Amino acid sequence: MGAKIDNSMRGMVGRSAAGVLAVATGSYPNSQALHAPVLVLNASYEPINVCAARRAIVLVLKGVAMAEEENGHFLHAARVAMRVPSVIRLLEYRRIPHQTRALSRKNILLRDRNTCQYCALVLGSGELTLDHVIPRSRGGLSTWENLVACCHPCNRQKGNQTPAEASMTLMREPRAFNLHTSRHIMRLMGRSDDKWRKYLFY
Ligand SMILES: [Zn+2]
Repeated sequence: MGAKIDNSMRGMVGRSAAGVLAVATGSYPNSQALHAPVLVLNASYEPINVCAARRAIVLVLKGVAMAEEENGHFLHAARVAMRVPSVIRLLEYRRIPHQTRALSRKNILLRDRNTCQYCALVLGSGELTLDHVIPRSRGGLSTWENLVACCHPCNRQKGNQTPAEASMTLMREPRAFNLHTSRHIMRLMGRSDDKWRKYLFY
């Protein structure tokens, strides 16, 4: 999910394991199973990420992670049959920089759950814009703490004012993506997978 996490994982996967998987997926009739989301746990069992089954399998083949739960599908390669994991756990503990998630429109909308932070309407991504809480013209920065999801009518109403001047109240104070938010998103993604529950709900 986070760019930093993805990069660190990419770094963990060597060419040889990726090559093995390329052979394996070539003879696999249902490649959809390889796109199924897999929950990634730290060595401490703390949930840290969600990745595609294909990447999870590479991490297991590479010896970086082990399968904790399986999703019932088999992956058949030339000489090997392995179960597709549903949850994997890294064998070595990794410090994960939760605060460094990339600032982007997509991630702001994700953080605010596609909800206008002034009128609480939940809308599609195309119907939302980003509002600078302190307007840019007044020195407001494009940061996690100063950007919120906002519907177009609220954005027009607020105009070039601060929320106080416009008599508009923010639903919550905008914050950088943190562990709590990441876990909330993982829970939303994992709602359909019973095997994720014991790692995410406690
Ligand atoms: Zn609104």
